[in-house]
Amino acid sequence: MNLTQLLEENIKTYGEYPLLYDRDKHYTNIEVKEQAMKIAAGLKALGLAAGDRVIVCMPNCPEVLFCYQGITRAGAIIVPVMFTLHSREIHFIAANCGAKAVITSSLVRNKIEEGMIGLKESPILISIDEMENDKILNLFKLMNKSHQTTLMECEPNEEETAVILYTSGTTGQPKGVRQTHKNLYSNALSSYKHSESERGTTLGILPLAHAYGLTLSNIAFIAGSSIVIFAKFDTKGIFEAIEKYKVRSFSAVPAMIHALLGSPDSENYNLSSFQYIGSGSAPLPISVIHAFQQKFKADIHEGYGLSEASAIVTAQRKGMEYKPGSVGIPIPGVELKIIAANGAELPVGHVGEVVVRGDNVTPGYYNNREESEKAIKDGWLHTGDLGKIDEDGYLFIVDRQKDLIIRGGFNIYPRDLEEILNHHKGVSEAAIIGLPDEKMGEQVVACVVKNSESELTEQELIAYCQEHLAKNKTPTKIVFLDALPRNGVGKILKNHLRSSLSGKQS
Ligand code: ATP
Repeated sequence: MNLTQLLEENIKTYGEYPLLYDRDKHYTNIEVKEQAMKIAAGLKALGLAAGDRVIVCMPNCPEVLFCYQGITRAGAIIVPVMFTLHSREIHFIAANCGAKAVITSSLVRNKIEEGMIGLKESPILISIDEMENDKILNLFKLMNKSHQTTLMECEPNEEETAVILYTSGTTGQPKGVRQTHKNLYSNALSSYKHSESERGTTLGILPLAHAYGLTLSNIAFIAGSSIVIFAKFDTKGIFEAIEKYKVRSFSAVPAMIHALLGSPDSENYNLSSFQYIGSGSAPLPISVIHAFQQKFKADIHEGYGLSEASAIVTAQRKGMEYKPGSVGIPIPGVELKIIAANGAELPVGHVGEVVVRGDNVTPGYYNNREESEKAIKDGWLHTGDLGKIDEDGYLFIVDRQKDLIIRGGFNIYPRDLEEILNHHKGVSEAAIIGLPDEKMGEQVVACVVKNSESELTEQELIAYCQEHLAKNKTPTKIVFLDALPRNGVGKILKNHLRSSLSGKQS
């Protein structure tokens, strides 16, 4: 099934209902389809052909989903780009995918224009909220102009690329993950079956330009659910929406869960409908899981995934034995194993690389054969994540291979140390990194953000670590920071920490 058929199926199964809520407005599934048809006609009128790449770069809003559907209907490929990226990063993506058009909004427009400088071929710029001029077209004008033309429908086959999603580059240069229609549909359907999610209203707080946010919107289409669109993360707005729409569940990333936990606004709303929150994309400290459950009387279902698996690989769900720290079991149709450096499968409890196989696995990166061959071998996606499986098949992510610290020949997993530091009452957040060391190969460095009232010193924190950790794991240096550098989905940018603290690129 392709993404256009996904919406058609939603309409056939559930009839007309409000699919998207955006502040005081709403759009039904049929209205979304109508907008998409006009966008498809508009893109065709501009000369876009099947397989052309169209960047969509703006904060979450209904137009993002109209455009995704419209681009698919025109037979073109969606390139979602986080609006928080730097113009340099936008330039890299536009050049790498050879974008034919960019759909954006006034908020991001300057950055987009900067990012287009020096491209071999300038893409057509389209804005959702600006007056048309010689540099930029207006999306709605384009839609209305093309309305009378024959609405050419395109039916991409399921093996064709639907989306090229650039990884955030936390471990190097971004790579354009090709996600086929089959990858996306199979993953959304399996996740839906796995979570047994009921029809209802959910919150679209994750960026629709991110693998996780995109998949969640596809799941909502399958479930017949409505999505309340959030342009930006806003704790008060979230509590308000839970009360107003009697929201049972929604998904977030750890940085958001941390913020919800710290917000006093929850006291002012009736959150009795709220049953669980899904968490993924980065590790969630166990201390946060317990505090969240206690405060909201709601569960946390942690899941694990990556853009290359479009996006969900494992997840916890209602009714399963709850194992804090685990990211659950593989969703239906997704196979998983843990392998050693020589490729041999490891038994239960042993730490190795997580490899994944299934209909959700990307056929490869766009224009990057070398990286594709490194990532996918014999149909197995090599995730670059270290993990272990327990006797019940639950996956535990230990760390990212690239973040592993090797000190004096011993492997140190930063996540273990971060859990210990996060338990200290003076610590708000911590990230452990390895920095080059002449004698030991690498030294362990803790980057710490203190709680606002804390007067914690480096000596005190090292003494605390000595009490709780083996000697070789104890950080030799603590760096206090005002905030940890994060990407658009709140993931800690350890490569930035490493390069700024060692003075060279990691
Ligand atoms: P890049 O691959 O360029 O560094 P990225 O990490 O942002 O970019 P994504 O596909 O967005 O790419 O993120 C996938 C990664 O996020 C996984 O490989 C894993 O390291 C991490 N991740 C996802 N879910 C979890 C989780 N529940 N716990 C720990 N890590 C997670």
